[in-house]
Amino acid sequence: MARLKNNYKRRNIKTNNSATKARGQSSRKKVKEEIVTKAAIKRTKHPAGGSVPYRVIPLGGLKEIGKNCTLIECNDEILIIDCGFAFPEYEMFGIDIVIPDFSYLKENSGKIKGLIITHGHEDHIGGIPYLLRELNVPVYASPLAMGLIEHKLEENGLWCETHVIRAGDIFNVGSFRVEAIQTNHSIADSLAFSVRFPGGHIVHTGDFKVDFAPLDGKVIDLRRLAQLGDEGVDLLLCDSTNVMRTGYTPSEAVVRKSIDEIFDNTDKRIIIATFSSNVHRIKYFMEASMKHNRRIAVSGKSMENVLSLARELGYLDNIPDSVFVRISDIRNIPDGSLTIITTGSQGEPMSALTRMAYDQHKSVRLKKNDVVVFSSSPIPGNEKVVSQVVNQLYEKNVKVVLASAMDVHVSGHASSEELKLIHTLIRPRFFMPAHGEHRHLVEHSRLAQSLGQPEEHIFILSNGDALCIDGSSAHIEKGYTSGEDVMVDGYGVGDVGNAVLRERKHLSQSGLVTIAVALDTATGSLMAVPEMRTIGLVYEVEHKDFLDEALSIVYNTIGKCAEEGTLDESSLTKAIRSDMKSFIYRQTKRSPVIIPIILYV
Ligand SMILES: [Zn+2]
Ligand SMILES: [Zn+2]
Repeated sequence: MARLKNNYKRRNIKTNNSATKARGQSSRKKVKEEIVTKAAIKRTKHPAGGSVPYRVIPLGGLKEIGKNCTLIECNDEILIIDCGFAFPEYEMFGIDIVIPDFSYLKENSGKIKGLIITHGHEDHIGGIPYLLRELNVPVYASPLAMGLIEHKLEENGLWCETHVIRAGDIFNVGSFRVEAIQTNHSIADSLAFSVRFPGGHIVHTGDFKVDFAPLDGKVIDLRRLAQLGDEGVDLLLCDSTNVMRTGYTPSEAVVRKSIDEIFDNTDKRIIIATFSSNVHRIKYFMEASMKHNRRIAVSGKSMENVLSLARELGYLDNIPDSVFVRISDIRNIPDGSLTIITTGSQGEPMSALTRMAYDQHKSVRLKKNDVVVFSSSPIPGNEKVVSQVVNQLYEKNVKVVLASAMDVHVSGHASSEELKLIHTLIRPRFFMPAHGEHRHLVEHSRLAQSLGQPEEHIFILSNGDALCIDGSSAHIEKGYTSGEDVMVDGYGVGDVGNAVLRERKHLSQSGLVTIAVALDTATGSLMAVPEMRTIGLVYEVEHKDFLDEALSIVYNTIGKCAEEGTLDESSLTKAIRSDMKSFIYRQTKRSPVIIPIILYV
């Protein structure tokens, strides 16, 4: 703590020094210097919220991109910011999604005041049904995010108190005074939050970029962020996703230009794949279609759902119903008069675009020279499947437009220069890089340091750690609660753990062998020929010799155990498994899962 305080002193002293130097120079210069000095002092002045200590606890979203969920805990009150899910990693066989561990929230359910949502992406709202199954929490979200959340709740037969919020709204959640601030991102109605409470003042950027020409015309509220910085911010949590990209993330306006170019230059069908949640961009595809007298068909369940919600909420008010055509009714529409907006930009195996590429779509058969636009870039980890779909599209002789060759997609996250701008406006006392893998968090810390933020005031946490702040001092409490992944498989939440995953991995790599043996209880003699089945080891039809030989090993083992008087279930199971394991390894250099089944009849 002493060290932190000293550091602040050092910063102040530095500014005073510059004032001293100014003395003795011309009076005009002196005034100018003094103004600079005042500004510099202001920069380091923090009205440090309160004397009440508090904790910031990330349950997800750190050292990963996904399942964002952060708690602010002060005076026996908890405010939750976002509640997302993550997609499973490569080795999570059969897992549908991954959610944060809510056990801390369950243990402290009496303290929870509410959940505020920055925007409607799955890594920020996807975990809500799982949270609400366990706990009753009021949810605050912008119109589009709330529409998406309500759709999830309906699907899951859940209910909760909901509050629709908009940029500029200031509202109380328990003792937390929350202000919603307009930002720009790849989904409409994205918000940053300013949270004031007895412990202090936190600003959470949510996912954002700085776009001076966003498609909805709502520019990030930099003026308000600057005011908040002037008022004093104790802690900044800031999106780190694109910290490693230099410069500025291009505006959505860039996409508009490229899309115009595509529409101007083809009289063939245009098929555009993008993220269903990017409503404003999709609206622009629709406007471009109307301008070129094209009808619009929509394909893919999530695209249909989001667009019907967007129409309900009035985001697509300027697109008349008559422009739309059912995907099943496109046959009679001339090629130059049709746009298809589809899911599948990430190469998802069951998505509409993938089905089109493999001739499995009910209504769309791709034709030579159709133009297929990927208005997206592959999320890390999806590159391989996307390139498979792209190759398949080339097989169909369609014209593929990728974001790598033409500006048909821009990121929704701030690059380094935009991040510098936000740091400079907010000038927080403490900084916690958020929303990023470990390398992003470290680079974001370096970026903050390059702007003068002392390293001691930057905290890189892991999920489950707590950042404890008490006025002007702060420290990390490692492993404060569980920040583990909770895996969801079908109806099972958390019942698949590492042990089950190891078994799934083993099965997937080496296959399975079962050996059924029926013995006479009285005499111990075999009642039938032992039956052996393999799955994923060898193709049984072509390896009859191998299977015969394996069976003879089983006979030998049973004979050996009979001689030793060890025909009890446990000894025989163990012996068969062991002999079989060495035989199969000798023959194949493989180690399948072996399951002997002994029946006494
Ligand atoms: Zn997002
Ligand atoms: Zn996100």
